[in-house]
Order: sequence, then structure tokens, then C-alpha cells
Amino acid sequence: MKDKAVHILQEYFGYSEFRAGQERIIDEILSGNDVVGIMPTGAGKSLCFQVPALALEGTAIVISPLISLMKDQVDTLNEMGIKAAFINSSLNLQEFRNITLKAKNGEYKLLYIAPERLETESFWELLSQMNISIIAVDEAHCISEWGHDFRPSYTKIADMIAKLPKRPAVAALTATATTQVKQDIVRLLRLQKPYILITGFDRENLYFEVDKPTNKFDFLLQYMKKNSTNSGIVYCSTRKTVDTVCKKLNEHGITASRYHAGLSDEERIASQEAFIFDKVQVIVATNAFGMGIDKSNIRYVIHYNMPKTMENYYQEAGRAGRDGESAECLLFYSAADVITNRLLIENGSSNVDKTNEYKKLQEMVDYCNTDGCLRKYILSYFGEDNFPKGCDHCGNCVGNLERTDITIEAQKILSCIKRTGERFGSGIITDVLRGSGSEKLKTMGFDKLPTFGLMKEYAKETIKEIIAYFIAENFIDVRGDKYPILALNAKAYGLLKGEDKLYIKRIIAKEEKKAKKAVHMKKCLLYQGWGSLNLKSMGIGSLK
Ligand code: ADP
Ligand code: MG
Ligand code: ZN
Repeated sequence: MKDKAVHILQEYFGYSEFRAGQERIIDEILSGNDVVGIMPTGAGKSLCFQVPALALEGTAIVISPLISLMKDQVDTLNEMGIKAAFINSSLNLQEFRNITLKAKNGEYKLLYIAPERLETESFWELLSQMNISIIAVDEAHCISEWGHDFRPSYTKIADMIAKLPKRPAVAALTATATTQVKQDIVRLLRLQKPYILITGFDRENLYFEVDKPTNKFDFLLQYMKKNSTNSGIVYCSTRKTVDTVCKKLNEHGITASRYHAGLSDEERIASQEAFIFDKVQVIVATNAFGMGIDKSNIRYVIHYNMPKTMENYYQEAGRAGRDGESAECLLFYSAADVITNRLLIENGSSNVDKTNEYKKLQEMVDYCNTDGCLRKYILSYFGEDNFPKGCDHCGNCVGNLERTDITIEAQKILSCIKRTGERFGSGIITDVLRGSGSEKLKTMGFDKLPTFGLMKEYAKETIKEIIAYFIAENFIDVRGDKYPILALNAKAYGLLKGEDKLYIKRIIAKEEKKAKKAVHMKKCLLYQGWGSLNLKSMGIGSLK
């Protein structure tokens, strides 16, 4: 059977070998197993059902949501001398009758149908009279309400299959890799122990990096100056940040336009066109920008704020380097973004599953804080578990990561939170630790606490940053709505007792010899400035 598949690939399609994942999916289908194939757009999903359709007896039924796609595929197959046809609302009665008759007689190797056909039970009649080799559900995410293009008719597929005299193998294909959609596909299509394959999400030409600059704008500006001839996108989480960043860039001589849903249609269109036709170097935008934009020479995508989910991040970052040339995806992390995102979830619509939103946010935070290869993190997030340990082409693989032990600082802060009765926010805690002379602290008797002034040599921002890091990493809980109160949790007690150690990840510049590619050299220069600043201001770690 395997040889037959390769033979078909070469003979009919004229390709010498299968791409990643195709062979395995085809193997499973040919062995009679259900499969879910998740691969990005352009990876070659059609072949996964077209090859088995040709290898097996009978007619493959392909359920596909788009009339134009159906027609293209059928035309191409016919040109290759393969008998295929489609049934959808574009046919007239004569054509419909003609094709149904031929289908009944088993004249086609593939019959494409629109899902809406399944709304009429008389159509099920036709299907049950045919010898069906396999059922392929293309764009299978359409069955899920979580997907962006839910098609109610897709929910009829399982009932139709159940009515068939003999159940053929069912293959579901999509480019949507979220767990929810995947689960919906399996459940709603009632797949039987499906083989699930996720592959091809790697974008080799993209370089990933997470930065934790003390001053995001300065860091951005330095980057822009070094990339002054290249096109790029800067994503910000709010309209206000878009406006500010765009304005400041222009003031510094970087040509930038802005894009968000609060602008007039005219300005949005003008901004977009200026960017697409290279009239401006950079577009500063909220996530409203990007859908359907096909600009191939985007050399960098910078996230000025952390997005809510990895799905959002990878989709937005993935707009870089569509031409296959190398491009960079930088994310500027600050623990404050995590807190903002949590508040957004908390205050968001009560109809959504918040536990899940928090989980996704945490997975995004984990990406920002991992010491491991960023590419491996992304791919395993999307279900590709077989990626080797390092990629040599991400900030964590090529950069120099220094793990700074902040266990002592952490203990000081946590015990201060505890001693003040877990009743205050980060402002008061910071004041106590720095030994502020304010009357308020005296009235409450906090100047008598052993933690008073325990961190007086630290900058306010440093202590606040560590607290924000605790919140992001779930060492402390934030309670209360109007005045957030910090409280310890089980994880924090582990630290206080000295059972665990805590490290903060910092990238510091070493010599350039470690930087493998030219692009990374210029990055190393960038690190020097903020690396030193930051470590010094934190009063921890020494400079190399
Ligand atoms: P998808 O449905 O995953 O978006 P398609 O099935 O439309 O992708 O295929 C995208 C392109 O890749 C098509 O032009 C197809 O002919 C080509 N292709 C698919 N498989 C192979 C292969 N094994 N070798 C070379 N080209 C391939
Ligand atoms: Mg496709
Ligand atoms: Zn890596």
C-alpha cells in the first residue's frame, strides 16, 4: 500500500516525495483508521485525502465549505485525468441530476460536496447507495463554535456517517490547532480512536526572542534605528499605547503610521496602504491589524505588550518573513502586562470560561519566562512534540542567559507582606521595605517591624518589579477589586521556608563570539545598555 501511495504521488501529482506528516496520515487512512490532520495553510492537506482516494476502491466523499475551493480542486484533478466532481448550490438541476447519476454508478474517484447538502435527507439516500472509500472533512474547524468560521451544517456530518451501511475511515483536516477546536472535531464528528497528527508549524526563517527592557520605548527606538530600512509591525495592547508609541517614533525620525479600531475608516485605510506600499517603515497597531494583509517583506514583528494567548502571539508574529527570508519576532515582556491581562479577564464577559482564559494567559507568561528554546516551546504548545532540544535560532538558544538568584529578596518581600497582615498593596509594602519615613507607616506601627527598611538600598521600581513577577508567577494572590491586596499562597510559603529557590532570567551581553549569525551581533550590542542598568538597579547580579 505504501509503495502504491508513493507511486500515485509521483505518477499523478508529479512530486518526488511526501512532505512532513503527509505520509503518516495517508498510512493511517489506508489502514482504515480515522485521522485528524492539523497542518498550517499551504502544508499540503489536500494530498492527504486525494492520494488515499486514488489508492482505494470506491469514491471518496470530500466535505468542503468553499465553493471556489471545490471547483479549483476538481478542475485540477480533472486535468490530471482523475475523475472527480462537485455538488453544491452552483449547479443547475440538469448538472445536479447528471452528476448524481454518475456518482451512483461509481464513476468518480472523488466527489466534493458542500456541507449544506447534508441538510436534505434525500441526499443521504444517494450516499448510502454509493461505495464510499473514505470521508474527508476539509476545513474541519468549521464544526466548532470556537473556530472563527463555524458552519452549522458541519454538525450533520456525524449523523450522516452513522446512517451509512458501512462506515468508512474518516479524515478531518484543518489548520486550526487549538485544543478546543481539536477536541470538538473529535467529539462532534464522533471519530473512532483517531490518529491525531500535528505538524509543520515551524517557521525556520523566524528568529524569536523575549526581551525584558527597563524602558521599552528606548529599547524599541534603538532597534528601529538599527533596522531603519526594513518594514515591520509593532503590536501594542491598547489604542492609547499605539497612539503614544507611534507619535514618539515619528518625533524621533522613524516613519510610522498607526492602526486601531478607534480611528476613522479613512485614516485606517491610509495607514495600511502607506505601510503596504513602503511609504512608512513601520505600522504601530493593535491586534485589529493584520487579518488578510499580504505583505511578504515584513522583517520584524515586535510585541510591545504581551498578547493574551500563544495562539494570538504566533499568528501575529507569523506575519513576519512571509517571503521566506529571515525575520525577527521580539516580545517585550513586563510583568505589568500580565496584571493588566488578568484584570481584563476578570472584568470581561461572564459568559466565557475564565479558567481557560487564565490558563492560556499563564501559558503565554511561561513562554516569556522559559529558559528553554522558544521555538520548541511554541511547537510543543501547538502539539508538535518531536522538535529537538534547541534550535540555535532563538534568543534563548543563541543569547546568554543569566539566572539570577533572587531567593533572599523574595523572602524579604514575602515576609513583609505577611507581617503587615496581608492587607496592603505593593505601594505600602515597598514603602515599608525601603523604610520610608511617612507618617502613615508610623501611625500603623510599621516602623517597628523587623522588615522595616530591610531593602532600603533597592529602587522602588525594583521592588515593584519583583512583586509583579511574583504575581505573574502565582506566588502571591491579588485580592480586592478597588484596592488590590497582596496575599501569600502555598507556593509563597515554600519560598519563605527556604524549600524552593527563585531565579529571574536576564539576558546579558557577552562577547560576540557566541552570536552565530550576523543578525544576532547587532542584538548583543543592544543588550549592553539595559542589561547593566537593570541588574544594577535591582541590586542583584554583577556585570560581566
Ligand atoms: P493546504 O490545504 O494544507 O493549505 P494544499 O493542499 O492546498 O495545502 O497544498 C498547498 C500546495 O502544496 C499545493 O500547491 C500542493 O500541490 C503542494 N504540495 C502538496 N504536497 C506536496 C508535496 N509532497 N510535494 C510538493 N508539493 C506539494
Ligand atoms: Mg486546504
Ligand atoms: Zn531555540
